[in-house]
This record gives sequence, structure tokens and C-alpha cells, in this order.
Amino acid sequence: MPRHYAYLKISEGCNNRCRFCIIPSMRGNLVSCDIGDVMAEVERLKNAGVREILNISQDTSAYGMVNRFQYASPKILKSMKRRPLQRII
Ligand code: SF4
Repeated sequence: MPRHYAYLKISEGCNNRCRFCIIPSMRGNLVSCDIGDVMAEVERLKNAGVREILNISQDTSAYGMVNRFQYASPKILKSMKRRPLQRII
């Protein structure tokens, strides 16, 4: 893997129940990492020379879900965008 990019796990589990998928029964419901911890890891990676971060989880768009209408994924993307990284996926 090139040293300029890294995978960053931002949550684990999933609240959806797609019939074909075993992940919710294996990993449980969605649990999001604290946004402060995620941003600290972004900073650490940036200082280590990473310029491209790939956010990963089972349901990335549900990061920080409070309820069906409130999600924190736009907030974390805005926070990451303020860091001088070349690319956030
Ligand atoms: S992990 Fe993906 S496929 Fe599996 S239940 Fe969640 S949304 Fe569906």
C-alpha cells in the first residue's frame, strides 16, 4: 500500500437488516467512533505523511447517527476538509 494514503475506521456495525447480509448479526448495531478521536487520528496520519484518507465502516453514511434524520457524516467530512489533505474518500 502506498505510504501516502491510509484507511481510517470511523464506525463499526450496522443498523440496517438487508436480508442477504450477515454483518449486523456478526458486528451488531452501529457504533461510531468519537469525532475527537477520529480527528486526532487524522492529525496523526497527516503528520506521518498521509495525504489521502479512506474512511471505512459497514455503513459510512450513517456515521454518528443520532436518529433517522440526524447524521454526523457531513460534520466529520467538514472537519476533515479543514485539514490540508489532498483527498478524503
Ligand atoms: S452492512 Fe450493508 S449490506 Fe449489510 S445490512 Fe448493513 S447496509 Fe445492508
